[in-house]
Amino acid sequence: LVYSDSNPLKRILHADATLDSDGQPIRKKKVVVLGSGWSGYSFLNYLNNPNYDVQVVSPRNFFLFTPLLPSVTNGTVEARSIVEPIRGLMRKKGFEYKEAECVKIDPSNKKLHCRSKEGSSLKGTTEFDMDYDILVIAVGAKPNTFNTPGVEEHAYFLKEAEDALNIRHSVIDCFERASLPNLTEEERKKILHFVVVGGGPTGVEFSAELHDFLVQDVAKIYPKVQEFTRITLLEAGDHILNMFDKRITAFAEEKFQRDGIDLKTGSMVVGVTADEISTKERETGKIVSEPYGMVVWSTGIGSRPVIRDFMQQIGQGQRRVLATDEWLRVEGCEDVYALGDTATINQRRVMEDIAAIFSKADKGKTGTLNKKDFNGVVKDICQRYPQVELYLKKNKLKNIAHLLKSANGEDTQVNIENFKQALSEVDSQMKNLPATAQVASQQGKYLAKCFNKMEKCEKKPEGPLRFRGEGRHRFQPFRYRHFGSFAPLGGEQTAAELPGDWVSIGHSSQWLWYSVYASKLVSWRTRMLVVSDWTRRFVFGRDSSS
Ligand code: FAD
Ligand code: MG
Ligand code: MG
Ligand code: MG
Ligand code: MG
Repeated sequence: LVYSDSNPLKRILHADATLDSDGQPIRKKKVVVLGSGWSGYSFLNYLNNPNYDVQVVSPRNFFLFTPLLPSVTNGTVEARSIVEPIRGLMRKKGFEYKEAECVKIDPSNKKLHCRSKEGSSLKGTTEFDMDYDILVIAVGAKPNTFNTPGVEEHAYFLKEAEDALNIRHSVIDCFERASLPNLTEEERKKILHFVVVGGGPTGVEFSAELHDFLVQDVAKIYPKVQEFTRITLLEAGDHILNMFDKRITAFAEEKFQRDGIDLKTGSMVVGVTADEISTKERETGKIVSEPYGMVVWSTGIGSRPVIRDFMQQIGQGQRRVLATDEWLRVEGCEDVYALGDTATINQRRVMEDIAAIFSKADKGKTGTLNKKDFNGVVKDICQRYPQVELYLKKNKLKNIAHLLKSANGEDTQVNIENFKQALSEVDSQMKNLPATAQVASQQGKYLAKCFNKMEKCEKKPEGPLRFRGEGRHRFQPFRYRHFGSFAPLGGEQTAAELPGDWVSIGHSSQWLWYSVYASKLVSWRTRMLVVSDWTRRFVFGRDSSS
């Protein structure tokens, strides 16, 4: 259809077209969103712009509340309690959904190649192409095996709802097998040896959940074989939970020791076979193999194949993770945004822009900055370069003026050299944002808000400092707000690290954690289900049927 055509019949034929101020129909821009996880769901939830035709492609038709996934592995919470079907949101917003996976992104023709779930019996209808005007990539990441042999075949991952259910079945299966007659003690020990690989939050939380299950439930259900059980947690680095405060790491390590969880740091897994897991001890370089009953692999995430292929096409093949700018626009191609675990923000260095910042502030072109010049750009600098604020906080300085003072004595006139020197250490505070639900959901919300005011902003561009080659950007860049991290450690103990260097460990944090998560759950339906699962567990214990 030619939309500028003045033939009124043609206009009527196209139901999607609305009229612009001159009575001309406008074609709605087609926004395709890939993924229905933390970032995608949050984007869709906050998107409120009637001028977009929104299409969602995701292989799963629900949102999954991942922080409670480890609790599904032992039956504390039911899987269906932590999923939210997305059809409801689609209907409410008038968006369209296709249950399929995007297998190829073609940015030069603005096309996507998609495949619906395997198992569909209708041949020929399982693959289709779509085009887009704007693409939002929110496909998350996949578990990273570092190409360790045997992991794909023999280990369990903990990423999707299905994974948690598989683990749950397998744990119970191990206990049933170990309870059969005519087994030697050695065989029972092997079957009941649970190995967790990776001492990050997920690995630690899963070990803790498994330990709780063994202590609180197995002792009653399988009293005869309980003595043969063992949990080993393998970590290649020196410590578990190394992204947390040292106090939390120490507490967790001590607690695991007391619980009898065999924590082995400095041991890297080099291979898994059907019966044995082999590790290389860092200190001795020796390779040690141990029999196991079940391995859960949780050593971090990597890019999905479709994203790797896309990165090759747009000249990002050398990078480890897809890069965007601070507006979440993918670098090296037009009209594509990426958010959540699938991408990382390529932050600008202050030092690279220092001359531009200085000349921007130096309105009178005098070669020196005075207090007034300076006040004009401080806000922009802090917006644009989050590392500045982190640096000030770390050095207990109130603002950049204090920073200049400390570098420059009492002199209030600053030339470019002083300016450079004062800010020279700032970039050392640059950090990639963590791959968490908190970041993903804030990015989804941020991008939706940008999209909601897109037209207004296109007419009236605004925004902080602009530099060569960046074009006009219309919005404030994305800024992350950290609300704290939680690490449930089992036995009703949770470590919490909250903003302002506040660390709390114990029972009260456990309840803080419950209430934070209960209040973050997306719908009242999910909240009800989770709270009733928790209550049921307190009253009746966990369900052990598999
Ligand atoms: P996801 O939420 O993984 O969503 C990706 C979506 O894309 C899914 O819907 C998927 O089906 C879809 N998809 C995949 N491939 C394709 C494709 N080819 N085409 C189209 N769609 C596709 N974070 C916290 O902040 N706190 C926690 O306590 C916490 N606990 C966690 C516990 C576990 C067990 C796990 C696994 C993660 C946890 N996280 C936690 C991390 C958090 O879940 C992730 O950071 C978050 O899910 C990232 O969101 P996302 O939107 O990028 O990806
Ligand atoms: Mg997503
Ligand atoms: Mg998710
Ligand atoms: Mg993911
Ligand atoms: Mg990211």
